[in-house]
Amino acid sequence: MFDKTLTASRTGGITQALPALEWITDSRVDRLSQDFYWFSPVLKRQLDGLRADAVVRPKTEDEIRAVVAACAQAGVPITVRGSGTGNYGQCMPLHGGVILDLSAYNKLLWCRDGTARAQAGIRMMEMDRQTQATSPEGGTGWELRCVPSTFRSATLGGLYGGGFGGVGSINYGPLASSGNVLGVRAMSIEPEPKVVELRAPEALLLHHVYGTNGLVLELEVALAPAFAWLESIVCFDSFDAALEFGDALASSAGIVKKSVTLLAAPIPDLLLAATPLLKDTMRAGSHAVFTLVAGFGEEALLQLVKDFGGTVTHRKTAAEVKASNRTIVEYTWNHTTLHAMKVDKGLTYIQSGFQAGRHVEQAKTLRQLLGDEVLVHLEFIRTKEGAMNCSGLQLVRYSSDERLDQIMQIHRDHGVYIANPHVYVVEDGKQGQINPDVVATKMRFDPMGLLNPGKLRGWDERERIMADVAAGKVSLATLPKF
Ligand SMILES: Cc1cc2nc3c(=O)[nH]c(=O)nc-3n(C[C@H](O)[C@H](O)[C@H](O)COP(=O)(O)OP(=O)(O)OC[C@H]3O[C@@H](n4cnc5c(N)ncnc54)[C@H](O)[C@@H]3O)c2cc1C
Repeated sequence: MFDKTLTASRTGGITQALPALEWITDSRVDRLSQDFYWFSPVLKRQLDGLRADAVVRPKTEDEIRAVVAACAQAGVPITVRGSGTGNYGQCMPLHGGVILDLSAYNKLLWCRDGTARAQAGIRMMEMDRQTQATSPEGGTGWELRCVPSTFRSATLGGLYGGGFGGVGSINYGPLASSGNVLGVRAMSIEPEPKVVELRAPEALLLHHVYGTNGLVLELEVALAPAFAWLESIVCFDSFDAALEFGDALASSAGIVKKSVTLLAAPIPDLLLAATPLLKDTMRAGSHAVFTLVAGFGEEALLQLVKDFGGTVTHRKTAAEVKASNRTIVEYTWNHTTLHAMKVDKGLTYIQSGFQAGRHVEQAKTLRQLLGDEVLVHLEFIRTKEGAMNCSGLQLVRYSSDERLDQIMQIHRDHGVYIANPHVYVVEDGKQGQINPDVVATKMRFDPMGLLNPGKLRGWDERERIMADVAAGKVSLATLPKF
């Protein structure tokens, strides 16, 4: 589809034609062409060595437009990048070309009435810092409704383009829940780029599709009240007690919380071995539940801890967390995987979604069935529809690709949804199937197929999909028009 040598030479021409922009063409391109694909032994084999021809770091919309127009005129692929913390080779260019690094396009544009708008490259920690300071009511201000454990470096555009949700999803569900994303401003990839504002729900057609169907310039999101979050770790001797405590805390309507994470033994031991920073925060051999609860909810939390026979082994107030600049959040979600893999290189992971209402029973059954081969890591979250549930980022002792597939199938056989993290094509992961609306959106915003090519299977079937639309077999939520 793309000739490598031709793409490299055309990219060279673009860098020369736009000398005022910040271009990177030295050895740093290797690092900027990667993300955390190596969490998967399968993707590591498939994607090792991929490299863009150049990286550009624009600071204004005009600079972005100049790069996009030049790439479209030359037929050069563009891969958008935030901070490159994605997991499935999401921002790794399969066909070279230009990496459009948006990390310098990063201003908070406004924050009012519990909503905010920012340029896509803003780091989530920085956005929280600024929105927490905006508090007309005299409280602690506002913050993002959900952030990944990579909030320190990851961008808002990257969460939207490649992420799912995270800390805070226990209240607001994943980012895709209706009401979280209010609108996006997107640019088309054409010799004369167009810019349009998409409001929800249309705005969500560019979400979690790895930057394949539109370049997002700005996002408008709803915020959450920022409380003074007390961080605790509670240890248990029994897995069932830890799981039931986590579920009870997650479902407890009166306890205001931001996250509840269950790390079954031996994960706490792996984390203790991974970093001296966690020394004395957990009992060796135990099952641990990490919690962020509003400080005023501590007494209710302690009552639950007592009811389920747990022991608080770590406690930090919001002020202590701020002063130390360290948070237990950076041991949850996929940070658990990151730290565990430091200690045991034979580990990988899977991503799963349980059935609300059956999640506790399913988690117990699967643990019994898979024993020491699958280490249980659960994050309690609300579903898009609002029910309390948990999603899993289970650690897996990797033996072969076949066994990894079997383990995922065993989960499916027990009614647990798998978002396969060992694939780089959008439809093979969380999306699960070709979405005609996503393809139609790509036809609208990327008619030449230059955005992150090779990652959206539906693009290769666009003619059939559009024929089905014309024949009335498929109806689209949005039609490809401006
Ligand atoms: C240790 C670890 C922990 C993690 N924890 C979580 C977690 O808790 N929750 C979670 O959801 N994810 C998690 N992730 C995945 C990832 O960190 C998040 O999704 C993060 O928000 C990605 O942001 P980024 O700026 O690094 O995006 P990148 O990796 O740079 O980009 C991600 C995808 O979005 C596309 N993209 C980026 N910006 C734009 C844009 N402006 N327009 C269009 N497309 C764009 C890119 O092309 C790419 O396909 C984790 C990953 C790691 C390695």
